[in-house]
Amino acid sequence: MQNNPTKIIVHHSADITQTDQLAKINEYHKERDFPVSSLGYYVGYHYLINHAGQLTQTRKIEDEGAHCIGLNFDSIGICMEGNFDIELPTDAQKATLGNLLVELCAQFNFDVTDIFPHRCFRNTSCYGNLLSPDWARILFLDYKDKNNEKIPMCSQN
Ligand SMILES: [Zn+2]
Repeated sequence: MQNNPTKIIVHHSADITQTDQLAKINEYHKERDFPVSSLGYYVGYHYLINHAGQLTQTRKIEDEGAHCIGLNFDSIGICMEGNFDIELPTDAQKATLGNLLVELCAQFNFDVTDIFPHRCFRNTSCYGNLLSPDWARILFLDYKDKNNEKIPMCSQN
């Protein structure tokens, strides 16, 4: 069965370690028997954003996710490294996430209301208690405006 996303679910890794967590998460999710993606990763999310704002795609969109029970065939999972119960995302992470949300929402015709923190669906604090329920939606709108500003206005007519 293919993933057919209708929404975006944003996570944190709940791990305050400042180093690159890709290998660690991959190993942890492999131990938990998460299905391997067509890109060769066990990481349950489709995208991972490290502290430096570097984006890694770990699953193709059509690959089933392993990040939110009950929604792994109709959502895109994005994880930011960090524990946002006790720290905040870096500016670089916010920029990467903001632009990725704009790109994915345009590609899949999602609205701002199609973006959710994990905790909307599970009994978890994920993406962290320091971030408000609509934090990712506000970030999306902010970056959507920024991207629109980049489009030059036609002055010929
Ligand atoms: Zn989560």
